[in-house]
Amino acid sequence: MEQLLLAWFHEHGRDLPWRRTRDPYAILVSEVMLQQTQVERVVPRYLRWLERWPTAAALADASTADVIREWQGLGYNRRAVNLHRAACVMVEQHDGQVPDGLDALLTLPGVGPYTARAVLVFAFERDLGLVDTNAGRFVARAGAGRRLDAREAQAVADSLVPSGRGWAWGQAVFDLGALVCTRRAPACERCPVSGDCAWYGAGRPDPDPVTGSAGIAAPQSIFAGSDRQGRGRLVDALRHGAVAAARAADVAGWPGDPGRAQRIVEQLVADGLARLDGDELSLP
Ligand code: SF4
Repeated sequence: MEQLLLAWFHEHGRDLPWRRTRDPYAILVSEVMLQQTQVERVVPRYLRWLERWPTAAALADASTADVIREWQGLGYNRRAVNLHRAACVMVEQHDGQVPDGLDALLTLPGVGPYTARAVLVFAFERDLGLVDTNAGRFVARAGAGRRLDAREAQAVADSLVPSGRGWAWGQAVFDLGALVCTRRAPACERCPVSGDCAWYGAGRPDPDPVTGSAGIAAPQSIFAGSDRQGRGRLVDALRHGAVAAARAADVAGWPGDPGRAQRIVEQLVADGLARLDGDELSLP
């Protein structure tokens, strides 16, 4: 399976800017952006971010408000605050460097088990398996042919990594999941590893192993009318200037529901995305 997938990646893998570097900070930025935003949207924003803040020290020096402004359009704004906090921790505790151990990486704000491993694989070229929503599909279908819990999925993912090829393997699995082994209609007929795929070999029995498997994100809840939409509207407004707290419900899009707006404002303040001075709301 290894040689077939790596050969496929050599021919079909995407040319993405974070694949041309091993700079751990750049890799961390890419991974945080990719957590909940599509590759095509991330590419230009990743390049712009690194031009503005090329190191963790440069990012730590920036104001939180500027970091939140720069994140505009990427969604899930809390990631911007966490990335800024992570840069501060790196400066204070790691000489401005991204730590190269799993435990230390996991102490950084916004860095969970997948992101920590991804940094180790894509920056430090460690032979570790990755389980995110793309890789998790491949692991459950090809590696096991059944639904996997978190511990099993990580163990299967680790067992599949060819020795010394962790970087290429991780990228190949990511692209196979994105381009071939997709959620709804895996294209097994043109898959380079169909001959070794446990689920395909068994005749693709129901249920699809990805259903309920570890690492595979549930479909996002409906955005329109959600708290997420109101939060996004408020943060977008704050990017352009302070907002009177009394106007928060209007700005969030819920003019008739000040209680809901109040709750969202409290959340934004608690998450470090906003500051309340008297009755004026602004970026921190
Ligand atoms: S054969 Fe089908 S299910 Fe198996 S890894 Fe390839 S695309 Fe996925």
